[in-house]
Amino acid sequence: MLSKVVIANRGEIALRILRACREMGIKTVAVHSDVDRDLKHVRLADESVCIGPAASDQSYLNVPAIISAAEVTDAVAIHPGYGFLSENADFAERVEDSGFIFIGPKSESIRIMGDKVAAIKTMKSAGVPCVPGSDGPLSDDNDTNIKLANKIGYPIIIKAAGGGGGRGMRVVHSDATLTGSIALTKQEAGTFFGNNVVYMEKYLETPRHVEVQILSDGQGNAVHLGERDCSIQRRNQKVVEEAPAPGITSEQREKIGQLCVNACNEISYRGAGTFEFLYQNDEFYFIEMNTRIQVEHPVTEMVTGIDIVKEQLYIASGEKLRMKQSDIELKGHAIECRLNAEHHKTFIPSPGKIERYHPPGGPGIRIDTHIYAGYTVPPHYDSMIGKIIAYGCTREVALARMAGALDEISITGIETNIQLHKEIIGDANFQAGGTNIHYLEKKLGL
Ligand code: ADP
Repeated sequence: MLSKVVIANRGEIALRILRACREMGIKTVAVHSDVDRDLKHVRLADESVCIGPAASDQSYLNVPAIISAAEVTDAVAIHPGYGFLSENADFAERVEDSGFIFIGPKSESIRIMGDKVAAIKTMKSAGVPCVPGSDGPLSDDNDTNIKLANKIGYPIIIKAAGGGGGRGMRVVHSDATLTGSIALTKQEAGTFFGNNVVYMEKYLETPRHVEVQILSDGQGNAVHLGERDCSIQRRNQKVVEEAPAPGITSEQREKIGQLCVNACNEISYRGAGTFEFLYQNDEFYFIEMNTRIQVEHPVTEMVTGIDIVKEQLYIASGEKLRMKQSDIELKGHAIECRLNAEHHKTFIPSPGKIERYHPPGGPGIRIDTHIYAGYTVPPHYDSMIGKIIAYGCTREVALARMAGALDEISITGIETNIQLHKEIIGDANFQAGGTNIHYLEKKLGL
């Protein structure tokens, strides 16, 4: 087993990784920026190293500082969490070239999945269903592109191969604006992502976001842990997630799950990962793969009883996958609400000192958060301050428990989006299940 791990992240996920390490008897090193000295996991870690000032590019994205911290503390592995350097193939390569284990896939896998055109090509050849589209980069010939768009059928979406975070995309409804839109998206892609390759897909108008969690050891063994529905989004950011996805049958789950497992084996994928799909009219369409732990992993943990972070650590230590597909059983239902330090109507971030914090409790309630009374949320990072996860034997029970937890929790001193979550959980259409990715923005009148 790994003897000592550097946790190259902050906030709730850093604490989540620390807890998994402690349970497994692995020593931990917290690396943090100078405004993050008071983070809960920094206090709890066996060792801590300040790697730079508040600005992420000088601390949590500072590759030499993170690698030096691993060297001076005699660590053997680095866990990148999510965001920051977690999907940076060059970082994974530097970590391994420096003699440490990167807790994630090989850098080649990250590189392929980071290029959406390459990712789609790989998935297609592994038999994973993709959105009808250009099957590669768009040509510079306007007539060819117009013919292609008509063959696919409007509306279509132009997407940047190197895009991410919901940027670098443009929907086109007719021939009249196609050529101009391609040129604009190319230009933006070059500026933002340093790669002006764009491709075309059919634009699905009312899809749900359904994603499949996998674990794979890179030694020929892979399993899927079922799916999550993350359709409650604002500006392409997930707000509420749940597992399983309402209305997905066990036959559908097995079929799409097995295709993802096949794809993992095809590319000798190592670690935890997520295949993201748009789901419309009972069909799955692959859009991208995330090669890291995700914010919403707890809902899958609750319904499978599997600790995904611990499995990441076992896989990174070189162990064979500790489970077979037949060992995995989904039981009950779990819902997660992401708590943000922001105004619930204007969404303006609200950093500052938390005066009081009363967590909710009771059967089926799990809180993943680093906050405590007296903690100051810094203005430099993402506004997410934690997650409430409610589990129940049925979706109705999970919903009722979440409603209770949202009433019980109290955070004062900063603004939070708790009120927004109360409105979502109390919404009749959300309660019925199966709302699409535009539902929340429509409800909010955005
Ligand atoms: P990113 O890496 O920027 O998150 P994705 O490819 O995952 O990009 O797409 C982000 C979001 O954009 C999706 O969740 C969906 O809301 C929308 N989207 C992307 N492709 C399509 C499509 N073909 N049809 C409809 N919506 C799409």
